[in-house]
Amino acid sequence: MSNEELDQLRLELDEINQELLTLINKRAKVAQQIGQTKQQQGMNRYDPVRERQMLDQIKNLNDGPFEQSTIEHIFKEIFKASLELQEDDHRKALLVSRKKKPEDTIVELNGEKIGDGNPHFIMGPCAVESYEQVAEVAKAIKAQGLNILRGGAFKPRSSPYDFQGLGLEGLKILRQVGDEYGLAVVSEIVNPADIEVAVNYVDMIQIGARNMQNFELLKAAGQVDKPIFLKRGMSATISEFINAAEYIISQGNGNIILCERGIRTYEKATRNTLDISAVPILKQETHLPVFVDVTHSTGRRDLLLPTAKAAMAIGADGVMAEVHPDPAVALSDSAQQMDIDTFNNFITELKNN
Ligand code: PEP
Ligand code: MN
Repeated sequence: MSNEELDQLRLELDEINQELLTLINKRAKVAQQIGQTKQQQGMNRYDPVRERQMLDQIKNLNDGPFEQSTIEHIFKEIFKASLELQEDDHRKALLVSRKKKPEDTIVELNGEKIGDGNPHFIMGPCAVESYEQVAEVAKAIKAQGLNILRGGAFKPRSSPYDFQGLGLEGLKILRQVGDEYGLAVVSEIVNPADIEVAVNYVDMIQIGARNMQNFELLKAAGQVDKPIFLKRGMSATISEFINAAEYIISQGNGNIILCERGIRTYEKATRNTLDISAVPILKQETHLPVFVDVTHSTGRRDLLLPTAKAAMAIGADGVMAEVHPDPAVALSDSAQQMDIDTFNNFITELKNN
């Protein structure tokens, strides 16, 4: 074969490549239209029966030189790419994503604008144990010029025999103390049926790590007019975490704060492993404010300050930590709550940072 003939064949190949490209993209557009229709009708995008029919039809038409298995492989790749394209389209549309809304969401709570670029603090006991206990912490929080108090009334404990929280009574104590000291209050709700009652007592509803994929709870939280403090599940990927927030916003409530609280790994030196890089990832991928809970991620009092500094340095919108007047006698998380002196030092150090 002369060089001229070779060049001619190469030219022909270039033209075929172009045609293939046009056809593949033409096919992609049709697949996209099908995907959109399926989405509108609430149908599953992946249809293995239809895929099998298409493959059989193609193989029946194939008279070589490619073998059936090669043809099947090539077309499977084309099908897969189309499916991914449909999914990308869907992902692009996530309501919590920056793609959907480039500006930062600001969650307003008791004069604090969480997400405004300044650090914010949510502090308070692990569990509400008594009026006196919560009031003592509230007084210290107020004295530091902070505005938000946390305290668990419904405690999701590993053992059913451990203190489960004071329930509604706990919410009432929290509200009373919050009102007396001018603090907004945050408390975890574990049961979708309790959301309706909780909104009468709390300024922000917390959804805890163990409930991050309690979809009925997420949907109920999406239907109320209160900010939601959503914690990352202990074995949840960032994508699952983002989708949990999407459950809330998809019901109409976009007032959401995400909280990285450590994930379970093989490491035993800390209670959980603080996934600090989740903070900038969540800030990039979503428009929601991002907090770091240094208490439950580390489970160690000596690590609260360094991890809080790391959180601030990496761009977190705020820090959550637990404070108890006498941690040694706390009914939950006694090993890692700060006493009032340690708390005062913690806040002073962070403010001067
Ligand atoms: C809490 O903040 O009280 C709590 C139980 O945390 P987590 O859900 O992150 O374990
Ligand atoms: Mn706790």
